[in-house]
Amino acid sequence: MSVIGFIGLGNMGGHMARNLLKNGKKLIVYDVNKTVTEQFRAEGCEVAQHPADIAAASKEIITVLPSSPHVKQVYTNDNGLLKTIQPGTLCMDSSTIDQIVSLEVAQLAQKKKAEYIDAPISGGVTGAQNATLTFMVGAGNDRTFERAKAILDLMGKNIVNLGAVGNGQAAKICNNMLLGIQMIAVSEAMNLGINMGLDAKALAGIINTSSGRCWSSDTYNPVPGVIEGIPSGKGYAGGFGTSLMAKDLSLAQNASTNTQAPTPLGSLAHQIYRILARDPHYQAKDFGVVYQFLKKSNF
Ligand code: NAD
Repeated sequence: MSVIGFIGLGNMGGHMARNLLKNGKKLIVYDVNKTVTEQFRAEGCEVAQHPADIAAASKEIITVLPSSPHVKQVYTNDNGLLKTIQPGTLCMDSSTIDQIVSLEVAQLAQKKKAEYIDAPISGGVTGAQNATLTFMVGAGNDRTFERAKAILDLMGKNIVNLGAVGNGQAAKICNNMLLGIQMIAVSEAMNLGINMGLDAKALAGIINTSSGRCWSSDTYNPVPGVIEGIPSGKGYAGGFGTSLMAKDLSLAQNASTNTQAPTPLGSLAHQIYRILARDPHYQAKDFGVVYQFLKKSNF
């Protein structure tokens, strides 16, 4: 049986890799965090010393890394994937990164007769765990999409073919800009309503049956106690960190500058999450913690 290469075993990648294992796939894995790779060794995976070892051993490779510099590094460093990549290899990158970086890496892979597709994800850590992720795929052609889908199907529920390489990142960046803006807006409205004397659950109930409803209000409400089992009810632990949101909003601002599409609310949301991502009180927390940030600024 062929071996799948997997690089980046964090909050998302760790669950995604385990879903491949559950489906009987053999994996060779790499992560800079040795504690994590030792856990995967104990679960029967081969552990690579460098990304180059992965490319030498596998013709289907998945990367789930924090951001653009990490992806560039894993592909182009001295011991990177491109050093040993085999012709016919399919590289699937599920990191959220700059569209320009996706296009650059795709070109470098093409020079080695390999393919690179962008396949960023949504659905959060729960979606990664339950194999219900949405993959936004820029595969370039239908044959490559179908080859990727056969693997992505084991980790997700909606595998969407968006056409050209880079289109996956475009869709993901737009979605997350909207998400960041909405989370701040819900936090602002909830805080205002509570300060006007409303009960938090009652206010959320009205919003969720009225025109203000959105995912941040009805599924991921940032006010503790409104919805159980989500980060706001657990001290904002786990979930989607403020620094990842700041990063995604910065990608939206780069895209906005490149395309000259105005994004004034995206820009303001970016500044707010940049402050959170640098503040020791908020930087390691889920992005719903912006509610606490706004609440504190009342004092
Ligand atoms: P994470 O920080 O938990 O995991 C990243 C992993 O990559 C870590 O294990 C880290 O050790 C490893 N890593 C970092 N640099 C590396 C390198 N040079 N070589 C090998 N491994 C390296 O991040 P995450 O939450 O899993 O997110 C991964 C990507 O998925 C990000 O681009 C993020 O924006 C996106 N995403 C995250 C969520 C979420 O809810 N967490 C949801 C959708 C998309």
